[in-house]
Amino acid sequence: MSHANLIAGEWVHGSDAVRNINPSDTTDLVGEYDRASAAQVEDAIAAARAAAPAWARTTVQQRAELLEKVGLEIMARRGELADLLAREEGKTLPEAAGEVGRAGQIFKFFAGEVLRIPGERLGSVRPGIDVEITREPVGVVGLITPWNFPIAIPAWKVAPALAYGNCVVLKPAELVPGCAWALADIIHRAGFPPGVFNLVVGRGSVVGEKLVSDSRIDAISFTGSVPTGRGILEKAAKRGAKVQLEMGGKNPLVVLADADMETAVRCALDGAFFATGQRCTASSRLIVEQAVHDKFVAGLTEALRKQVVDDARKQGTTIGPVVDQNQLDQDMRYVDIGKQEGARLVVGGERLNREKSGYYLAPALFDNTRNDMRINREEIFGPVASVIPVKDYDEALAVANDTSFGLCSGVVTTSLKKAAHFRRNVETGMVMVNLPTAGVDYHVPFGGRKGSSYGSREQGRYAVEFYTQVKTAYVMQS
Ligand code: NDP
Repeated sequence: MSHANLIAGEWVHGSDAVRNINPSDTTDLVGEYDRASAAQVEDAIAAARAAAPAWARTTVQQRAELLEKVGLEIMARRGELADLLAREEGKTLPEAAGEVGRAGQIFKFFAGEVLRIPGERLGSVRPGIDVEITREPVGVVGLITPWNFPIAIPAWKVAPALAYGNCVVLKPAELVPGCAWALADIIHRAGFPPGVFNLVVGRGSVVGEKLVSDSRIDAISFTGSVPTGRGILEKAAKRGAKVQLEMGGKNPLVVLADADMETAVRCALDGAFFATGQRCTASSRLIVEQAVHDKFVAGLTEALRKQVVDDARKQGTTIGPVVDQNQLDQDMRYVDIGKQEGARLVVGGERLNREKSGYYLAPALFDNTRNDMRINREEIFGPVASVIPVKDYDEALAVANDTSFGLCSGVVTTSLKKAAHFRRNVETGMVMVNLPTAGVDYHVPFGGRKGSSYGSREQGRYAVEFYTQVKTAYVMQS
């Protein structure tokens, strides 16, 4: 039986369905998920619109309790949901459990945060008047999410949207509708009023486009690739909708000559290759000071040779498959591009055969690369990373900043002075010292600069910026 869409509090079947395939075993059908028709997307938007006034007037206590319930159920079903996530997206089970736990924590965080919606009261510059600044819901928000974090990204958009009194239409990536459907089911059973949360599965070019262009959607929050994000911005801005975009990265990890080599290798391995390198925060550019270059490359190569690339749900697998054939083709195309550009492929880059027919790729490390090569300019979004040798710290920082992206960066060093200088001068929204570029907390802002992000930050209490609008009231004192 195919999984339906959630529209106005009802499960509504579509006319055709997405086949959700396990990337570790392409003979395994995870499930079928109905595509919403254009008319059904219209119904979902209308339902959210109709539910918005009453939902905006609910007490923070009501909203807190519902969000808490969702968070608790996600946590209670962590193992089962992690299995679904690993099966549909290809993260290893421990990685998937981490992501599910994070989704649960996000709902619990916003269950608390809703009680602290900020406001201000100021004296007027004129006599006898009070000024009160309050925050109100934006209205109906359209949420468009990518495939690489099938439950955490929907959670970090849906939870603050609902917490701050908005109604939601969620469109997950077609590749991974399973986790989004499970989340919708949990939200539905938690007892949210009909229409407050709606799920519509379908192609970005159909369902996503509709959300972006419909004037009844007040705000769009999107995570995905740069070209899609820019297109959304253009269309949504034209009709005056509020927009928030989280897009790609080409994140640098700088390894300085004074670095602890074990830490450097561990950060590079985790940041560049875990989660199959399919993270917007992945460290795809490893910028290494000449003095430790050989040692670093030898250490990382040895670590990569020890990785177990296999079925995401198999005990002992450290790197799961690539998400699908398209992404695998893209990864392998960039391996060829790197070779043609004159980079030295140190290890990996070849298709692997395993017991089951999945999209397995040996993690690839390039050396002797230059920052102007395409493999260092364009986001690959797979288990492929490049070493860029540099002569000193100043060059390392300059190379780190020489990119159109600005999501995350990292430095591995034992020098407090250099770490502090790097933190101050690197042009990214997030920066890590002696930690992998990927792997962030759920209660603090997430986002980047330059081509990586647009609009206000996601997550933590900074999410209030996007999901509320400010009202300034002037009141004559009686
Ligand atoms: P896409 O940009 O292709 O898709 C993202 C979402 O947008 C999907 O739900 C997709 O639908 C939808 N979409 C596609 N076309 C349109 C359109 N014309 N109008 C509206 N919606 C549309 O990215 P991927 O899903 O392939 O994700 C990988 C990319 O996302 C990488 O480049 C990565 O860097 C980036 N990313 C960035 C993150 C960040 O926070 N900075 C986090 C995670 C990923 P569908 O696929 O169902 O057709």
